[in-house]
Amino acid sequence: MTASASAPASARLSARIGGIAESATLAVDAKAKALKAQGRPVIGFGAGQPDFPTPGYIVEAAREACGQRANHGYTGAAGLPELREAIAEKTRRDSGYAVEASQVLVTNGGKQAVYSAFAALCDPGDEVLLPAPYWTTYPEAITLAGGVPVQVTADESTGYLVGVEQLEAARTPRTKVLLFNSPSNPSGAVYPRDQVEAIGRWAAEHDIWVVTDEIYEHLLYDGAEAPSLPVVVPEIADRTLVLNGVAKTYAMTGWRVGWVIGPDDIIKALSNFQSHLCGNVSNVAQRAALAAVAGPLDAVHEMHAAFDARRREIVPLLGDIPGVECPTPQGAFYAYPSVKGLIGKELRGQRPQNSVELAALVLEHAEVAVVPGEAFGTPGYFRLSYALDAEDMVTGVQRMGEFLREAE
Ligand code: PLP
Repeated sequence: MTASASAPASARLSARIGGIAESATLAVDAKAKALKAQGRPVIGFGAGQPDFPTPGYIVEAAREACGQRANHGYTGAAGLPELREAIAEKTRRDSGYAVEASQVLVTNGGKQAVYSAFAALCDPGDEVLLPAPYWTTYPEAITLAGGVPVQVTADESTGYLVGVEQLEAARTPRTKVLLFNSPSNPSGAVYPRDQVEAIGRWAAEHDIWVVTDEIYEHLLYDGAEAPSLPVVVPEIADRTLVLNGVAKTYAMTGWRVGWVIGPDDIIKALSNFQSHLCGNVSNVAQRAALAAVAGPLDAVHEMHAAFDARRREIVPLLGDIPGVECPTPQGAFYAYPSVKGLIGKELRGQRPQNSVELAALVLEHAEVAVVPGEAFGTPGYFRLSYALDAEDMVTGVQRMGEFLREAE
């Protein structure tokens, strides 16, 4: 081993890569799995993925694609033409946003779509307004692309929704982009139409780009709607990138297919970037995604019904725990309760000073894995994904509740 190889990673890595934090949600999941492997009966609320298999007809399309010679070689960087067309068609169908296939870039999952969007828009020092609580990947992708995340925080008093006044207070001459995510991971919050409109108009007025992540578009409850921002405010369409993917709607997290929709010239530039970065997204996965987006929404309706039933069960159970306050989420499959009432209380001889410490105690003593709010820019909260078996969900929350009731 050379001397430099034995130096700490921080000294060997570039600042850009060395500065990336491990995904907190994946870390919780890994810790829960490690404890389970030791035989501990851990119930994990960490994973942000549907607990359903990919529908059979989608898997079948992939199986068939494996046998086709055309799928064995490289293909165009922006995605299979049929898939780009189907995504444009699906977008017109689902959100009423009239886009052409040339405006679609197929990416390796929504995650690569997030990174590509910020790589396309950010020069060093450009500021990105980031409503918090935010999905843990956004600040990392912004920073990696050279941008500067500027957090704009909302709490449970506004249902985790930021207002135009808050955004305006955070705006500077360097503000280039606003990140918008509705329904939201981690809070499950959904922006009503009038707020989408107010935010879109404000962004248009100040020539701010919008990156809007619509990956949870079909997971809406209690009659909530999540209108697409460039549909509500058409004048901002040429300064908007829409992000989406098959992961959450069709239970396809492992297939890694997402997309960016934007103006032709941006998509062409991102296609050039992608041609050097990864060539093309796996053809077999793209064929599976084509079967998904061109097909019916029946599978998502079934999953939706299951998520909704669990949501109705988990929210009151959480709200009943002293020190825990849980607004009712209207989208996605997460509950995001405040646990601020428990910070500093005594629990089995310890006084947790933040939600990371509290989550560690819950894992150790109740054998329940939750993601602390620090991962989403807002300490004092837990994120619980209810994309898990309904019985496990109830047992897990009850176990956590019993433990937290010991706090004094
Ligand atoms: N956007 C949001 C808000 C998410 O929660 C996720 C996944 O957790 C993604 C995008 C990316 O999903 P994937 O990369 O699995 O397509």
